[in-house]
Amino acid sequence: MEAHSEGSIVIDRAAAAFETWRKTTAYERSSLLRRWNDLILAHVDEIGRLIATEMGKPVTEARGEVRYAASFIEWYAEEAKRVYGETIPSQFAHKRLLVLKQPVGPVFAITPWNFPAAMVTRKAAPALAAGCTFILKPAEQSPRTAIRLRELWEEAGGPQDVFQVVTGDDPAAVSAPFLRDPRIRKLTFTGSTEVGKLLYAQCAPTMKRLSLELGGHAPFLIFEDADLDAAVREVANSKFRNAGQTCVCVNRIYVHTGVIDEFTRRFTEVVRALKVGDPLDESTQIGPLVDAQGLEKVSLHVRDAVSKGAKIATGGAILKDLYFSPTVLTAVKPGMKILEEETFGPVAPILSFHSDAEAIDLANNTPYGLAAYLWTRNLARAFRVSEALDYGIVGVNDGLPSTAQAPFGGFKDSGIGREGGKWGLEEYLEVKYLSLSLP
Ligand code: NAP
Repeated sequence: MEAHSEGSIVIDRAAAAFETWRKTTAYERSSLLRRWNDLILAHVDEIGRLIATEMGKPVTEARGEVRYAASFIEWYAEEAKRVYGETIPSQFAHKRLLVLKQPVGPVFAITPWNFPAAMVTRKAAPALAAGCTFILKPAEQSPRTAIRLRELWEEAGGPQDVFQVVTGDDPAAVSAPFLRDPRIRKLTFTGSTEVGKLLYAQCAPTMKRLSLELGGHAPFLIFEDADLDAAVREVANSKFRNAGQTCVCVNRIYVHTGVIDEFTRRFTEVVRALKVGDPLDESTQIGPLVDAQGLEKVSLHVRDAVSKGAKIATGGAILKDLYFSPTVLTAVKPGMKILEEETFGPVAPILSFHSDAEAIDLANNTPYGLAAYLWTRNLARAFRVSEALDYGIVGVNDGLPSTAQAPFGGFKDSGIGREGGKWGLEEYLEVKYLSLSLP
């Protein structure tokens, strides 16, 4: 079937289903989401293996992702019952002013491959809890995980047309009918900043609501008073999770000059010991990169840095197939691609700073503003630096801050809107003001 007409049929179904779904009670939607959550948790192993097979995430990590994905459904199953309105005092005795919250309408979602389950549920759960119908276009590299989640939704008793999945190998063509159609009231997208900006423009003619979760270039600041053992461990966890293919992965490690040698020595030892291997092997910590294009980008960033004077402390090469060795780069300087573009791979560049002010300037010197991290034992410094960072998420002595109940999203080129917590639900709700004049 031609993409346009297929899209129209899907939109017809989503629009018709919306008229029924929006009238279900919050309690019905909540129980359904709860059953979906339970079914996903009963299939953690199977979905974890599917993720590992589809895009190469080590299976132990993939199972963690499935639990993380389910945690959004659990959270929004609860929050569905707490979509409160408000009343406002009026200056007139005969008037009553009310604020209602209503679902925005049919939603179109586009998700990436790096979290094939969690990026789906972080959008679907609040949308469905709010009473919206949901059309999902997953990434080409990970459609089966999305389709399996959708099957479990139906097994839980979810109506067919309330949650639909569309796939294809030409993302612009598959998405076009949904972006164009005024009945789709919201676009929610997670992916690159480049594609996010294209979609932002395409939503203007029909004035859709937007959530854009885009790229990042996370700095990790290690001050001279940091607990170095903990910092080494957390930088490694943050940098090498999913072989460095997450939007909140550390991209730049800035270490105070007083501790940089010690940090680099200890960190390099940890990185050298990481186990690279088959994603289906229980002991693997680093799997392959997602595709040849991803591998080439990582390799290019290392070659570019070395050609401009960076030194390889460990790694630095393609091992075989899509595997790149966990890498530490030192003597990294401004002007290298690795400091400007997302590497999306297992490469950790280390740089130095002298003062808090310099650290803040270096951290903020990027168009991105998703996640930043800092490591210090000084409470005043923790507050002052956190407040000065132009980032949507700041981890203070915490390399893994993401959790279902907290807001996730970025400043500047990292996007618009927030997912998670009460903020994630508001993204799918319209505010309606009702003014009642009593006779
Ligand atoms: P991408 O190339 O932007 O692709 C993301 C999604 O957009 C895929 O489903 C892709 O489909 C689709 N797409 C690509 N071009 C399109 C177009 N012209 N029109 C409509 N859809 C289009 O990003 P990616 O490389 O898959 O994912 C990595 C990026 O996601 C990184 O930048 C990362 O930082 C970001 N990310 C952000 C967050 C966050 O929460 N902020 C979370 C995870 C990832 P195909 O698969 O068919 O190409």
